[in-house]
Amino acid sequence: LNNPPSWPYYPKNVKYHLDYPPISLGEKLDKTANEFPDTDATIFFGARIKYQKLKELTDNLAANLQNLGIKKGDRVALILPNSPQAVIAFYGALKAGAVVVWNNPMYTERELHHQLTDSGSKIVITLDLILPRVLNIKAKTSLEKIVVTRLSEFMPPLLKLLYPVKVKKEKRWIEIPKESFILGFQELLKSPPQPLAKITINPEEDLAVLQYTGGTTGISKGVMLTHRNLIANAMQVNAWDPVRSSQDIILAVMPFFHVYGLSVALNLAVLTGATLLIMPRFNVDEMLKTIVKYRPTLFPGAPTIYVAIINHPRIKDYDITSIRLCISGSAPLPVEVKKKFEEITGGRIVEGYGLTESSPVTHCNPVHSLEKPGSVGLPLSDTLCMVVEPDTLNPVAIGEVGEVAVKGPQVMKGYWNRPEETALVLKEGWLLTGDLGRMDEDGYLYIVDRKKDLIISGGYNIYPREVEEVLYEHPKVKEAVVIGVPDEYRGEVVKAFIVLKENETATSEEIIKHCQEKLAKYKVPKYVEFRTELPKTTVGKVLRRALREEAKK
Ligand code: AMP
Repeated sequence: LNNPPSWPYYPKNVKYHLDYPPISLGEKLDKTANEFPDTDATIFFGARIKYQKLKELTDNLAANLQNLGIKKGDRVALILPNSPQAVIAFYGALKAGAVVVWNNPMYTERELHHQLTDSGSKIVITLDLILPRVLNIKAKTSLEKIVVTRLSEFMPPLLKLLYPVKVKKEKRWIEIPKESFILGFQELLKSPPQPLAKITINPEEDLAVLQYTGGTTGISKGVMLTHRNLIANAMQVNAWDPVRSSQDIILAVMPFFHVYGLSVALNLAVLTGATLLIMPRFNVDEMLKTIVKYRPTLFPGAPTIYVAIINHPRIKDYDITSIRLCISGSAPLPVEVKKKFEEITGGRIVEGYGLTESSPVTHCNPVHSLEKPGSVGLPLSDTLCMVVEPDTLNPVAIGEVGEVAVKGPQVMKGYWNRPEETALVLKEGWLLTGDLGRMDEDGYLYIVDRKKDLIISGGYNIYPREVEEVLYEHPKVKEAVVIGVPDEYRGEVVKAFIVLKENETATSEEIIKHCQEKLAKYKVPKYVEFRTELPKTTVGKVLRRALREEAKK
């Protein structure tokens, strides 16, 4: 338990103990810019920004934010899709000493209001298209300034001209009102009136981000991640399979406003001097074209993205062989999807695991040692894992299902202003993840399900994931999710929601029969509902709660 590197398949190429430099994320960017000034930091629709330029832009933004009154520890909110602006705003705000509060651009006013007030954000940097929502809630927040950018600002010249035309035609063009509290992003990238004041950051103590989470489960809480947490996680991922500086191109389609895209794309690139190939949203056709054109080599993604790729009707026409490794995280990767992806594309996906509270990655399947499909692999460097009786630190026996607990330099400081909730999940340095899992005799972790998604039917535990794996094996099924619905006799029974592959038809009986052949009777769905799509978060997690609520009605 306490010595993963001694386990039989712990990858020999991975250094288990890493030395974390005593620096901040902003200083890390400057180091990379000094080492690789002429390497592209970002590619966005073909427009490129080199590391040297990124350093200059973030220094200017930081100084201008300080001149607007931002001091160490103040919160700066970002509501931006993946874009060069998001990269500049993130590192610029950090260099000013601020704590960044990431927000999903799709949030409603109610959700934005909660995050902006809970965090006490002073300045927000956002897109023109989001501005109306921010203006509607501004009076009820502590916002002093709103900084606005248009997505086209960092596009190549031709697109810069065309993009506004397209947006105007779609009637999404927003005139930016002239108010003293509204500032243009470009203005803040110019040379500042006062140079950047040096901020001393203690990476172990000082916060870099408040990363809101729990939106799919309850009121969202701000996870406090320090500079150390985030640097450590990017370094741990890099130790697992080193990124080649100036050579690797990371496809950045996972949103930076989710900690997975933040650590495994944005910070990993900045840490290593790799290039970010930035996509502002996920669209499988656009993504495949972008891959063919710019030849990324690393592709962190979520299972839904890989599902979309394998089901693309013309996937064979796209040459995606530049990708040497995909890392799947944020939700379970059905074994069937992994197999098909590797068969069709000749590429490789390794599955990892983590959560916002751990910056996020704690586990990954080995790249150069035994991979066990269906498991999330072994702990990263300096990371320990135990499977315990839920809500305690008492370990269960090898192979038994319990709650997964993890410990390591990537584990959060706590929840912002919520000491009681922090105490429930952080015990003696261990983070209780709320996930149920089991560990095999070689130390590989299998995530069985989330504690609260467990279905109890007639006294038996049913892990939705097991039923979903079986549903994915059905040749007509594209996506499947199961939930528990109330049942008078058994307490709960299983209901499956299914999206069929294009041009396929199926009956409930056919699906149920398929399950009966592979599952114990009590696990077989009693109800099957066909849908054209499933409600999901932007990182591809199915919103089970939404389905449960609908089913209740
Ligand atoms: P978030 O905090 O939004 O990143 O969500 C973290 C949760 O996603 C974890 O607690 C797990 O329930 C789930 N998760 C992440 N990766 C995996 C995986 N590989 N397999 C199963 N569940 C996962």
